[in-house]
Amino acid sequence: MEITIVDAPEHERVVEFKDNAVGLLGYIAIHSTQRGPAAGGVRMRPYGHPVEALNDALRLARGMTFKNAAADLPLGGGKAVIIGDPKVDKSPELLQAFGQVVQSLSGQYWTAEDMGMTPADMAHIGSATGFVAGLAEGAFASGDPSPITARGIFNAIRVTAMHRFGQASLNGLTVSVQGLGHVGEHLCRLLHDAGAQLIVTDIDTLQSARMAELFSAQVVAPDAIYSVKADIFAPCAIGGILNETSIPTLQVGAVAGGANNQLARSCDAQALHQRGILYAPDFVANGGGIVNVATEILRVAEREAWVDGRLQALEQTMDRILMRAKVEAVSPHEVAETIVHEMLRLQAA
Ligand code: NAD
Repeated sequence: MEITIVDAPEHERVVEFKDNAVGLLGYIAIHSTQRGPAAGGVRMRPYGHPVEALNDALRLARGMTFKNAAADLPLGGGKAVIIGDPKVDKSPELLQAFGQVVQSLSGQYWTAEDMGMTPADMAHIGSATGFVAGLAEGAFASGDPSPITARGIFNAIRVTAMHRFGQASLNGLTVSVQGLGHVGEHLCRLLHDAGAQLIVTDIDTLQSARMAELFSAQVVAPDAIYSVKADIFAPCAIGGILNETSIPTLQVGAVAGGANNQLARSCDAQALHQRGILYAPDFVANGGGIVNVATEILRVAEREAWVDGRLQALEQTMDRILMRAKVEAVSPHEVAETIVHEMLRLQAA
């Protein structure tokens, strides 16, 4: 195993790891440990070039600093990427070797599940390190985060509805949901129970049909979701969907959903703002996922009460962001980034 330091001035520590015997190659980027150990998942993808993988790790690690701070967790930001096709290249040996790299950082970085990974993979990684969360079993195992993520998004939708339409009740409002996977399905249930009308889409047509039957949802084709008339659009599938093509076609008053990195570029927040579409910053709306993971990292004993408290804090943070955005007449995305910078500066002072 070779572990080498990568020069990355905006990050605290970045390492490249390589173990030819098991086909392991990737990066761990630690952006900040100012608030606590860096926490963020490990992603496995067939990146075209190592530089692409490194850039992804750097960007995602920074994003985790913001997400963890916004959720007021005593955790910093980090992320790991492994280059390879998870369906072909992943093996218990490769995962164990990755666990050794995590262990070599002595707790500066905690890993967890991300794209291309499963809870079973976390158990393999856990055979080589204790700095892993998202396990399916064990004393503080946090398991599937999606129900908690969906609760956080639901709260964000309520706060957004309050600011945009003057009503926190979702009864009678129409919400369009893109992506009906782990998060989307839980969210649809919460929205339906709260009396919202649903317009849904997924590239998996069977799942769309299930949602239609369970929650009386109207199903539209994947490309049609951007232009349907609704009160709130909740993206819960992929990133980059708020862009120069989709934003002009939106017929909603607000966007509040759980997908990571919804804005293709940060100037797209401005484009939404100019159209009068209130955007609930994604890294605040979907913070429930990391709250769930944090129960495992922080060994939280009173799990339920602690999660409730953290979700409430996230809701208040969203409220503060939307309020300040209104007062300052800027986009909530800009305010969210400023608030996190302020939190980090205050802590450093
Ligand atoms: P998932 O893979 O279970 O579900 C994603 C769904 O989106 C799938 O049903 C898929 O078919 C669908 N989809 C993919 N491309 C689509 C498209 N172009 N149009 C319509 N549907 C499409 O993933 P998930 O765990 O539900 O996560 C959803 C999003 O939320 C992701 O962006 C993820 O990064 C983010 N997120 C998830 C969690 C969590 O707890 N799972 C936490 C934070 C953020």
